[in-house]
Amino acid sequence: MVLNDGGVTSADDTSANVALAGNGRTLHIDRYYDTLPGMLRRYDRQARREAFPGGDARDWQAWQARLREQLRTLLGLDLMESAGQCPLNPRVTERVRVEADDADDPRGIVRERILIQVEPDVWMPCYVLIPEHPRLGADGRPLCWLCPHGHQGGGKYSVAGVRGVPAVDDAIRRFHYDYGLQLACRGYVTLCPDARGFGERRDARLQKDDERSFLRGTCAQLAHMAEPLGLTVAGMLVWDLMRLVEYVRERDEWNMGALGCFGFSGGGMQTLWLAALDDRIRRAFISGYMYGVRDSLLTMNGNCSCNYVPGLWNLVDMGDVGSLIAPRPLVVQSCIGDHLNGPRGVVNADEQVAIIRSAYRMLGAENHLTHLHAPGEHHFDETGVWDAIAASDQGL
Ligand SMILES: [Zn+2]
Repeated sequence: MVLNDGGVTSADDTSANVALAGNGRTLHIDRYYDTLPGMLRRYDRQARREAFPGGDARDWQAWQARLREQLRTLLGLDLMESAGQCPLNPRVTERVRVEADDADDPRGIVRERILIQVEPDVWMPCYVLIPEHPRLGADGRPLCWLCPHGHQGGGKYSVAGVRGVPAVDDAIRRFHYDYGLQLACRGYVTLCPDARGFGERRDARLQKDDERSFLRGTCAQLAHMAEPLGLTVAGMLVWDLMRLVEYVRERDEWNMGALGCFGFSGGGMQTLWLAALDDRIRRAFISGYMYGVRDSLLTMNGNCSCNYVPGLWNLVDMGDVGSLIAPRPLVVQSCIGDHLNGPRGVVNADEQVAIIRSAYRMLGAENHLTHLHAPGEHHFDETGVWDAIAASDQGL
């Protein structure tokens, strides 16, 4: 039916559109009037208003400072409880010796479980993997990486490579999730925390023993609690990692000059935000999280709530955020067959890395940016990574 009365026009088709569906219970609808096309047009009109407009290195630095301030506000970081009013009160609650899986690798590793206070009465458990024979930085102290996790790994357990838990073992096999342990096997101290909503920090809805609850996180519940208060999930996660950096500084045992952050998937998201906003992170590795948002988060709009920061897309795309890491060493890894690349495939990641590369080029640091392509679906891939990481061990 077409209504054209008083200037009000609706459907341009004359079909009835609805009929009883084959299941006999619902209506089958021939044509839907969904929201995505309008949202894509809106995105194209108003996105990336704060992308770097061009200029020289001095202009770029002014842009970096301005954008960081805007992003801190969007993430709600300035609303987090002040570090000055909240001591970390660190505690070591467990210390065990673990052996590397690889029989060819003789290095023993000590695993600590620590607790730190990230906001008043908000605690973050974290595994610390300490190799017996660590790789040393320019100051003679062990080199150190923060290793945030993503989804579907039970939080810190998979990244720290905790063995003997079948659900964790499967996650490690599927995603090569134990990068915290793999780095420790190569001599790096690694800190593998539980993000809010994961592992020991799950909110009430998933505080159960079944495998699905154990592996997943309560990002949606966090978003519901946070966003009406002006906070965001991404902001809370990056805040907690900033507090973990503070812990490393206060512990004063490891090299701060080459402190890194290394993450896959949602851990890549946390690494992206932390390194972009906190210069104490001197180098970064991001796997499985460098996508243009139009394809990967707007067209593919079923991703987790932690990816969605209110107001962000009006300002920047992911490559713009990543370019804030320049000129510090950055390795980005993209899997060719990663479904999160979106409908156009890995070119969607390549375009974002091109944005980052232009910043590194501007600052004369193009050799500090490495983009690795790996075959296969969404996973962390070791190929070429350890060489790329080692190349940045001393040059800082
Ligand atoms: Zn999430």
